[in-house]
Amino acid sequence: MQIAIISGKGGTGKSSISAAFATMEEQLVLVDCDVDAANLYLLFDPSHEEIEKFTGSEHAVINYTKCTNCAICIQFCRFDAIHLSKGMVSISEVACDGCRLCSRLCPVGAISNEPQNESRLYSGTFRNGKMVYGILAPGEENSGKLVNAVRDKALEVARAHQIETILIDGPPGIGCPVISTIVGVDMALIVTEPTLSGFQDLERIKAVLDHFQIPSLVLINKYDINKNISKEIESWCTHSDSLYIGKIPFDADFVKAMTEKKSIFEYQPEGTTSAELRRIYRKIKKNYNTQQ
Ligand code: SF4
Ligand code: SF4
Repeated sequence: MQIAIISGKGGTGKSSISAAFATMEEQLVLVDCDVDAANLYLLFDPSHEEIEKFTGSEHAVINYTKCTNCAICIQFCRFDAIHLSKGMVSISEVACDGCRLCSRLCPVGAISNEPQNESRLYSGTFRNGKMVYGILAPGEENSGKLVNAVRDKALEVARAHQIETILIDGPPGIGCPVISTIVGVDMALIVTEPTLSGFQDLERIKAVLDHFQIPSLVLINKYDINKNISKEIESWCTHSDSLYIGKIPFDADFVKAMTEKKSIFEYQPEGTTSAELRRIYRKIKKNYNTQQ
């Protein structure tokens, strides 16, 4: 069973809810696909059994012993990554797209392409099973490609250890890394919040899930900050072929739990939010089983 927990926007509490569900399992593969801002490893402090280099893209580098300052490369770089400064041609690593055009055009072969490989893919063990996550280095590109590598590794780990449940904490938004996160999962849980922007982003992410024919469930976090919008979301779910799975109130224990490096389920197992999350998680699994 592969479940992705996603949200159309950041700040909905998606990762805290992923952490709570993860600690309800005795043995699972927990996957953090939010490679631009992975954070579950900070909470769970996994051991690292494997660390792999990830090469996302390349950037151009000038060999100054060959460069004649002819400026041909400046003229043709459509990413405006090459400039002449203090009599020297230089390439901005941040602006360079790695298209290799300049290295093909340089008349003296002064430009080469170096792989950007500071990003890493980690896999290891934490207190409730195995954990796989990726961290994209600042300025590096191809987060969707890294998400794909993280998901492949998670499947490999699940098969090697005969673990059935793969729980994926996805990135926010509806872009390329989100699509890499959801394609091929059995279902996606959308965590939303009752604000106008939260509601709009819910509609947008639901359209993406529909496009890829992925069954969707909706959980409203902090429903009590605006009960009217919460009701609207509940009723929207019934008309949009999204299964409304439940709601939880704003709970300061999420933050307190985090400061103790625990999920809310570990911090306050008998609390009302934990009880509701436990009920919701059972419902998600039941829903999956009836689909099989
Ligand atoms: S590789 Fe492409 S983007 Fe980078 S500096 Fe050369 S021409 Fe510009
Ligand atoms: S095209 Fe080659 S030789 Fe000309 S400025 Fe660029 S790097 Fe230097």
